[in-house]
Amino acid sequence: MNLILLGPPGSGKGTQSHFLKATLKIPSVSTGDLLRQASRQKTGLGVQAEKFINKGRLVPDDIIIDIIKERLAKKDCEKGYILDGFPRTVAQAKALDEMLLEKSEKLDAVVNFSVEDDELIRRLSGRRICKECGATFNMEYSPPAEKGICDHCGGELYQRSDDKKQTIQERLKVYKQLTAPVIDYYGKEGVLKNVSGIGQTREVYTQLMKALNLLEVT
Ligand code: AMP
Repeated sequence: MNLILLGPPGSGKGTQSHFLKATLKIPSVSTGDLLRQASRQKTGLGVQAEKFINKGRLVPDDIIIDIIKERLAKKDCEKGYILDGFPRTVAQAKALDEMLLEKSEKLDAVVNFSVEDDELIRRLSGRRICKECGATFNMEYSPPAEKGICDHCGGELYQRSDDKKQTIQERLKVYKQLTAPVIDYYGKEGVLKNVSGIGQTREVYTQLMKALNLLEVT
């Protein structure tokens, strides 16, 4: 099954793609995670990408398309994948269509999560992530029992550099300008499903499974 999760930053794509990954046993591919990994490893790509990420801008299409081509060619993607954070521009969506066509594959569904701006800002500015296990907390909605420490593994929590207030505003602006048109693109292709990203993560997941006609799999 080849799926895309679309939605503004903070709409829950990452969380939902991890739930789906566990249910469907296919990898969740996050271009944001791939870029952050490259940045931590200080590769040429990572250093280049960091400049865009820290400003809340998009990394150029040609770089992202190369990354995704390489990732989707790996063996674990043979039975399908869940794309989280890709495509973010119409050019990326078209490049993905070409990649699918080359392999005679298709997209099974594109899910768009909607959440209002005020809520996105609250979620992103309060988000803290564990350096060790990647668990996500929110200082307002789901704080850790001990400040700065992960409930699951005791790791140190950090704030993403692009989750600072000013960068969040830029990311939302970029989303509206460059990524929102991707929703129309898939609307025209007839594969789009709209799911509200508001509510408890498990409630959203139930809605997601309903939209994908997968409720019986859980
Ligand atoms: P994310 O973790 O999905 O919120 O992505 C974090 C940042 O990585 C974004 O704000 C962009 O700077 C960059 N990024 C991730 N995916 C893409 C993409 N498909 N196209 C361009 N830039 C991306």
